[in-house]
Amino acid sequence: MEKVKVIGAGLAGSEAALQLAKRGIKVKLYEMRPDKTTGAHVTGDCAEFVCSNSLGSSDILNASGLLKKEMEILDGELIKIAYENSVPAGNALAIAREDFSRAVTKKIKENPNIELIREEITEIPDGNVIIASGPLTSDKFADAIKDFTEEEHLSFFDAIAPIVEVESINFDKAFWASRYDKGEASYINCPMNKEEYENFYNILINAPRIEQHDIDKNSKFFESCLPVEVLASRGIDTLRFGPMKPVGLIDKRTGIENYAVVQLRQDNSAKTLFNLVGFQTNLKWGAQKELVHSIPGLENANIVRYGVMHRNTFINSSQILNQTLETRKREGLFFAGQITGTEGYTESIATGMLAGINMARRIQGKELLKLPRETMLGAITFYITDKAHLEHISSRDGSLRYLPPQPINSNWGILAKPLNKLPRDKKLKNELLAKRSLEYLQNFINNM
Ligand SMILES: Cc1cc2nc3c(=O)[nH]c(=O)nc-3n(C[C@H](O)[C@H](O)[C@H](O)COP(=O)(O)OP(=O)(O)OC[C@H]3O[C@@H](n4cnc5c(N)ncnc54)[C@H](O)[C@@H]3O)c2cc1C
Repeated sequence: MEKVKVIGAGLAGSEAALQLAKRGIKVKLYEMRPDKTTGAHVTGDCAEFVCSNSLGSSDILNASGLLKKEMEILDGELIKIAYENSVPAGNALAIAREDFSRAVTKKIKENPNIELIREEITEIPDGNVIIASGPLTSDKFADAIKDFTEEEHLSFFDAIAPIVEVESINFDKAFWASRYDKGEASYINCPMNKEEYENFYNILINAPRIEQHDIDKNSKFFESCLPVEVLASRGIDTLRFGPMKPVGLIDKRTGIENYAVVQLRQDNSAKTLFNLVGFQTNLKWGAQKELVHSIPGLENANIVRYGVMHRNTFINSSQILNQTLETRKREGLFFAGQITGTEGYTESIATGMLAGINMARRIQGKELLKLPRETMLGAITFYITDKAHLEHISSRDGSLRYLPPQPINSNWGILAKPLNKLPRDKKLKNELLAKRSLEYLQNFINNM
C-alpha cells in the first residue's frame, strides 16, 4: 500500500493525515516538536493553537462561518473535534485549546493508519508528500522549499495593507488613473487637500499599535516595506513624498493635482478587491478602520482584510500550485495550511482537508477536486493560485512588474459574484451568497 508523508502535525497536517487515514491510506506524519520548537508553540501536541483560542464566527452569514459549514459538509475531522471542545463565545467557535490538541493527538496516535514520527524534516522527501510545516517552518526545511520553489517565490514576512471591496468605494470622490497616464487607468486614487491630509496624519500618528510577538520583535523590516505609521513618524511630509505622492495623478474631473493621494491597487482577478498601496501596518484593527474611513472616498469602505506585519513563511502559490493544492512541477506533492498563503486557523484546517482529500484521490486514480469559486474554500484556493497576480503596472515608471498575492483569509469579496445585482443590505447579500455557496457545494458533491 502506498504511504503518504505529511510534514508538520499542526492544524493543516493533522487534518490532512486524518483525511487520508479514513480513506485507508497509510500516513507517516512528521513533527519536529517537542525536540525542536518554533518559538510560538509551547507543547508537543498536534494541532496546537499558537495564539487566540477562537476560530472566528460559526454563523454562515459570516465568511469564516460559511467556511466552517463547508468543512462540516465535506466531513472535516478537526472541525468536529473543535465543536466537541468548544467553550461559550457567542457566535464564535472558541475552544478549550489544550483539550482540543490533546483530543487531536489521541485520535492520531490511536489511528492504525497513522505513524506519528518526532523528527525535523530538512529535505523534501520523494514520493507522495504533503508539506504543512506552517508559518514557522524550520530554517533548514525552508531552505529546501526555497530550492524547490526558486528563491523569489518564498516569503518570510507578511506586510499586508488593508484590502477593501471596490463596490463600497465612493467614486464621487475617488477617481481612476495611473501615474502620468501611463498604461491603463488601473489605480483607484483617493485625493486629499491640505486639511484632509493633516486630519489623516493626526489620526495616524496617534493610533494605537498591536503589541508584537517575541518572534516578530527580532525581524527587521525592509526599508521599502516599512509600516505606514513608522514612515509617518519620520515627519509630516514623509508620506506625501512616499506612498501618498500626488505628482502625475490628475483627476480629470477637476484638472488639479492634489495635496496628497492614497492609491489602491487591484488585488484579485475579479477586480472586486483593492489594497491600499504602501499601507502595510501594525495598527490595531479599530484604529485601521478609523484611519481608512478618514480617507476621502473610503468613508464607508468595507474592509475585508486588515493590515498585519509578522513573521510568516509562505510560498507564492500563484506560481507554484494548482487550485487542487498540488504543485504544478511535481505530481504527488501538495502544500497545505498557512504556508500556501492563506491566513488563519480555519483556513489552515480547510486547506489541510482539501490537500488530504486530493492526495487520496491522486493515489486512487480519481480526478482531483477543484472546488467551485462560488464556495468559500473554492474561492480561497482560486485566489491564492490565480496566475493573474503575476503582473501589475508599476506606479513608478508604468512598467509591468511582478507582485505575489498577499496572504488571505475567508471574505465575501473573493467569492465569484452572481450575475444579478446583489442587494445593498449586507445581511440579505450575505444570506444570498451563503445559500448559493452551499447549493454549489452540494451539487458539486452530488456529481463527484
Ligand atoms: C505567532 C502566531 C500567532 C497566530 N495567531 C493566530 C490567531 O490568533 N488566529 C488565527 O486564526 N491564526 C493565527 N495565526 C496564523 C495561523 O492560523 C496559525 O499559525 C496556524 O497554526 C497555521 O496552521 P498550519 O497547520 O499551517 O501551521 P502550524 O499549525 O504552525 O503547523 C505546522 C507544524 O509543522 C511543524 N514543523 C515546522 N517545520 C518542520 C519540519 N522541518 N519538520 C517537521 N515539522 C515541522 C511545526 O512544529 C508545526 O507543528 C498565528 C500565527 C502565528 C505565527
